[in-house]
Amino acid sequence: MALPAFTFDPHPSPVDADERARLLVDPGFGRVFTDHMVTIRYSSAAGWHDARIGPREPLTIDTATAVLHYAQEIFEGLKAYRLADGGTALFRPERNAARFRDSARRMAMAELPEALFLESIRRLVQTEREWIPTLDGGALYLRPFMIASEVFLGVKPSAEYIFAVIASSVGAYFKGGAPAVSLWISENYTRAAPGGTGAAKCGGNYASSLVAQAEAIRQGCDQVLFLDAAERRWIEELGGMNIFFVFDDGMLATPPLTGTILPGITRDSILRIARDLGFEVREEPYAIDQCRADAESGRLREAFACGTAAVVTPIGRMLSRQGDFTIGGGGPGQTTQRLRQTLVGIQTGVAEDRHGWLERL
Ligand code: PMP
Repeated sequence: MALPAFTFDPHPSPVDADERARLLVDPGFGRVFTDHMVTIRYSSAAGWHDARIGPREPLTIDTATAVLHYAQEIFEGLKAYRLADGGTALFRPERNAARFRDSARRMAMAELPEALFLESIRRLVQTEREWIPTLDGGALYLRPFMIASEVFLGVKPSAEYIFAVIASSVGAYFKGGAPAVSLWISENYTRAAPGGTGAAKCGGNYASSLVAQAEAIRQGCDQVLFLDAAERRWIEELGGMNIFFVFDDGMLATPPLTGTILPGITRDSILRIARDLGFEVREEPYAIDQCRADAESGRLREAFACGTAAVVTPIGRMLSRQGDFTIGGGGPGQTTQRLRQTLVGIQTGVAEDRHGWLERL
């Protein structure tokens, strides 16, 4: 099927250059938005149509629109980076396009062709280049998403969808760059069950994680750590990041992709970078009791979380109703910093991109 052509409806920016420069000094995360957005519509009768770049504006939808009732919604998150030589690049965007399709399939939604996903991203970044902050760790965060837009209250897959991409100028996810964060080990709540939607990037996964994250904050922690739903024994991931462990013999480990955790693109990149650097890396289950014992014996040297938003973030401490324990020295470890530096180096065009991950625009 031929892909629809884009129409471009330029938007005279309501924000002048001075105001934009002021906003980009300290944009924070997810609060400063650019002027344009992409929208593409789908109906089972007409396929994908009405591809458009226009002003970022509210979506007007009927109160009986399916997504508002049954949460048939998916999204992605990726960044456009400003390179050391002044250029602009995306990092492995084809992985986000593929994961978006996988998420759509799991949620019984129409599958956006990967070429259309990628063209949407490229066009929006080219339109909004001047919104990429120059500050260290700054980037243009792209948020593609898709909602079930049929106006119908029956419980069934929608026959209509709206795909959209918005963009946000962002600084570091954790203020201060990469301080060591603390995790609350959730025993009351789980994120995903076997056969569930854990491997899909659907809004519902995040809605159901909020109460656990709120509990983590109440306990004085930064993030929640989820265990498996069946035994409450195996470490899975954080609310929005995957997790890695570094052992005293130089081995790295991360939980395997068994369908209940999100297959992170940063996770996959770290696996390859670590192997390139000569580390032995295992994807294998790790029990929380073993983690505690290893932290106490010194076998577990470092732990870190990873994802597009937070890049690589050291984990210093874990807490649960059984008490707390510190990992290594409680601060950023050497291996964590080395992996972070290599990844950021590739993303900003200063380290060798041996796998061809960077797409210059
Ligand atoms: N796990 C979850 C639950 C997430 O939401 C994310 C962010 N997309 C990740 C892991 C990390 O994925 P990625 O490296 O692709 O950003």
